[in-house]
Amino acid sequence: MPTADRRSVLKMSVAGTAAVLATPQIMVRTAHAQAPMTDVGNAGFHRFNLGGFEVTAILDGLRPGDGPHPTFGEDQDAETVASLLEENFLPAGRYVNSFTPTLVNTGSELVLFDTGLGAAAREGGMGQLRPRLEASGYSADDVSVVVLTHFHGDHIGGVMEDGAPTFANARYVTGQAEYDFWTADERLSGPTENSARAVQSNVVPLAEKMTFLGDGDEVVPGISAMLATGHTPGHMIFNLESDGKRLMLTADTANHYVASLQRPDWHVRFDMDKDEAAATRRRVFDMIAADRVPFLGYHMPFPALGYVEPLDQGYRFVPVSYQMMI
Ligand SMILES: [Zn+2]
Repeated sequence: MPTADRRSVLKMSVAGTAAVLATPQIMVRTAHAQAPMTDVGNAGFHRFNLGGFEVTAILDGLRPGDGPHPTFGEDQDAETVASLLEENFLPAGRYVNSFTPTLVNTGSELVLFDTGLGAAAREGGMGQLRPRLEASGYSADDVSVVVLTHFHGDHIGGVMEDGAPTFANARYVTGQAEYDFWTADERLSGPTENSARAVQSNVVPLAEKMTFLGDGDEVVPGISAMLATGHTPGHMIFNLESDGKRLMLTADTANHYVASLQRPDWHVRFDMDKDEAAATRRRVFDMIAADRVPFLGYHMPFPALGYVEPLDQGYRFVPVSYQMMI
């Protein structure tokens, strides 16, 4: 150990001894035990590099609720779903849904995928995208492209704040089929009414700044779209590639890391076309498993990043550990 270090260690231990001598040890222990609980939660973002891209997964919030059954495994009996969850060390009656928009700095564009539940959800601890994006070192004004994977409220909720665009300098990119479906007049009544009204207030006013994608179209160099329908009629996922590294953003193709991946054929209440969504899950995760590439799923457990391998009737979710650091 260099001398300077030894000296500072000695200094520290002398100071420490003085403190212990001056204060009865029991008091020191009590003081530590009485540190007040802090309100400060987790940082709420997770950053890594993908070739020349910098990727930041941002936790918009966590929502505990009853389930997963019957939301997941709607066509199964409760016991069947419960036993799969128990095998996977999960409770059967309660689960936590998480929401993870993703920010990608390509070096020339700052691209945000989805916008969370928005400011209206902030009182419930969600809608944290903008403050956490800022805590991660960017401002909302820095975002140059906002990509909307589909138009459910947990993805378009943060597009507007107080009636104005949250990301003031951004242009917008979304699927042509998704836009056409949700803006058709007949969606404004019946089961699609609430979602269609949210689309009218959060998406339609920005149509002039919007580019509409079809299957295979490019968002910016290195980022391309794939149609992955069933969850909604125009749901899109994205392939990111930089310097030979690849990552898929699978949006809402699979929304529970056990129920949706281990039993991809089970019906899910949020999927608008249940059979088509199941077929899409198989097609997308067959590809991800075969290519052995990481994926980021909007509702996977934060930081929402993992791999899949074939297992039994479906796939096993393998969370990323240090693969993205080396
Ligand atoms: Zn969603």
